[in-house]
Amino acid sequence: MWSLVTRCTRGCARRRRRRKWPSGIRSLRLEIVFLLRCLALAAAVDHTLKVVVIDGNMEVVHQSNVQFDSELPEFRTVGGVHLHDDRLTVTSPVLMWVKALNLLLDKMKRGGLDLTRVSALSGSGQQHGSVYWRRGARETLTRLDQDQDLDLDLHQLLQRFTGNQIMKLRQTRAEEFQDTERISLVSSFAASLFLGDYAAIDHSDGSGMNLMDINTRSWSEICLEAVAPGLARLLGTPLPSTSVLGPISSYFVRRYGFSPRCQVVTFTGDNPASLAGMRLKPGDVTVSLGTSDTVFLWLQQPRPALEGHVFCNPVDGQAYMALLCFKNGSLTRERVRNQFAGGSWELFSAALKDTPLGNHGNIGFYFDTMEITPPAVGVHRFDRDDAEVSSFGPQVEVRALVEGQFLSRRLHAERLGFSARSRVVATGGASSNKEILQVLSDVFNTPVFTMDLSNSACLGSAYRAVHGLVAESGVSFFDVMKNSPEPQLVASPHPAAQEVYAPMLQRFARLEERVLQQRRT
Ligand code: ADP
Repeated sequence: MWSLVTRCTRGCARRRRRRKWPSGIRSLRLEIVFLLRCLALAAAVDHTLKVVVIDGNMEVVHQSNVQFDSELPEFRTVGGVHLHDDRLTVTSPVLMWVKALNLLLDKMKRGGLDLTRVSALSGSGQQHGSVYWRRGARETLTRLDQDQDLDLDLHQLLQRFTGNQIMKLRQTRAEEFQDTERISLVSSFAASLFLGDYAAIDHSDGSGMNLMDINTRSWSEICLEAVAPGLARLLGTPLPSTSVLGPISSYFVRRYGFSPRCQVVTFTGDNPASLAGMRLKPGDVTVSLGTSDTVFLWLQQPRPALEGHVFCNPVDGQAYMALLCFKNGSLTRERVRNQFAGGSWELFSAALKDTPLGNHGNIGFYFDTMEITPPAVGVHRFDRDDAEVSSFGPQVEVRALVEGQFLSRRLHAERLGFSARSRVVATGGASSNKEILQVLSDVFNTPVFTMDLSNSACLGSAYRAVHGLVAESGVSFFDVMKNSPEPQLVASPHPAAQEVYAPMLQRFARLEERVLQQRRT
């Protein structure tokens, strides 16, 4: 049974315990943002529910969070989730998020934050997750009791991708599916709580469901029909990501003192919110050099491919964004550093400085673990004549690794439609390494900038809340953000970069195809 209730009665706790749902996620993240008159507030859930409040100058004026494991021990989560016996399935209880929201707002109120000044709020949640509202839930949602903690008896499952998951649920839980009144994403679920009614799925998070036609920005009839009849009604009409959904629910007005004029701006997925937090502009690319590497792209004309994800852009209704994930990032760089540069980033950097652009024609592919983009494994080295060789000298090896990684980032970004280059914004642990960033700048033939992007999804939600208030009148996101700090220039491309890397990229593409062919045969 799926239901929404406002009170945590013993009965509902018992009902919850009886139900076991096949949920699967690798991690969970939910974010929420509020904006006060001149203040905006953002919240995020990872193993914590976080909130950030910003003022009219986009400065952070308040931050708070709730740690799931330690502050809500009754849910017995580790890192905010339950790992199932199969060691693969990971779930997070929706009820815990809702309780965390009460706790967070209580903390903010106790901390003296004047919630009457909040003029708008928004937020984001981990992409691809879905929440199922039982028939009758809307009725309860519109009549939340201010004297009670929010306590929702919901079931959620979070598994990529949403469309496939809805289909599976319909097949394996037909009876419960029949009793479903509405399906939300994690983001629109959180927005629904604040709105006191079902919140629309926004175009950006909705486009990650594999159910939307990203050109028309509406549900694809063919996809919906393939998943479940009547699905359009269950999902509701998706709205632009900058839409104001309506004023905050009277529950929050009465219980926490929010202004009844406080507006709820559509919530979105964590990745789109990050793009807003990074303040990416048309033609920009962000390369995050963390444990894994991630590439975020701003696209005007996408070319969806089997690799990577293309979403509607969360801050510009005419544009798109794309995301590419590369598993072999810093850990592979560390392995090569340890083997070929005596475990020292200084020696690693010296090797990059001492070797020429293009590495004398040597090219390498370093997939210590099965790569996502492209799906290949192993180390493959090619000399200037495209002959596969078993080793390079230590310095050549270091440059082959870094050039190979960045050629791959550029190749796959271009395959998704990336062409304009205004800036590369580098983030993550390895962005502290100037020599690595110089190679990045040369391979992309574009200046590289760095900026502090910690909390980017949370801040992005706050920025979106500010923008949401004026988006209707045609003000762009960038107009709203014009006074925010600019990223710092750290590397400019070498004058010979284009000459060297344009042909090298073509060779790299051919050699990558060869590596993939080898795997297939
Ligand atoms: P996460 O993805 O876990 O957030 P970070 O963005 O913090 O990771 O990046 C951590 C990685 O940064 C480490 O694995 C390390 O290899 C890399 N790193 C740290 N300092 C340097 C450096 N000077 N040069 C290159 N890589 C570095």
